[in-house]
Amino acid sequence: MLRLFGKILRTGIVTEAPPRDDEIAALGAEVKGLVQRHFGGSLAIREVDAGSCNGCELEIHALNNPYYDLERYGVHFVASPRHADVLLVTGPVSRHMEAALRRTWEAVPAPKWVIAAGQCACDGGEFGVSYASCGAVENVIPVDVRIPGCPPTPRDLLAGILALMRRAA
Ligand code: SF4
Repeated sequence: MLRLFGKILRTGIVTEAPPRDDEIAALGAEVKGLVQRHFGGSLAIREVDAGSCNGCELEIHALNNPYYDLERYGVHFVASPRHADVLLVTGPVSRHMEAALRRTWEAVPAPKWVIAAGQCACDGGEFGVSYASCGAVENVIPVDVRIPGCPPTPRDLLAGILALMRRAA
């Protein structure tokens, strides 16, 4: 144990301060202000993968890392659509997920909003409409905001959430 403490003291702190990103800070500050004014300080998002390759999920996941830290703006992800204000949907909607996506949307209490995240969710992307794919999310449920990109960056996603906030305000 003493050896361990000795090593900790000799090594010191090896992490670095996070880099500053003024654009992200400005986007986040506006999101936080609108969430506080119009959503009681807390906006709940339920993420739905309707048939994505998971590229979009990796970028969405990054929103929760210590760099972007989405929760500091009052936005958090929830496990149930019944606790959500917003559905964030990725992927072309596979035929297997069509009924599940519709039922998930019906389970969200009104007022509710839908963000289509990623090119596939916006217009079907490379997959389009086929025997296996319904294509764009709007072919299955109403969409309020589209975030293009394959995949969209965390900055794009934050800007999309802000666009929805401005629209819902
Ligand atoms: S938009 Fe690109 S990254 Fe996202 S699900 Fe489609 S192919 Fe994958």
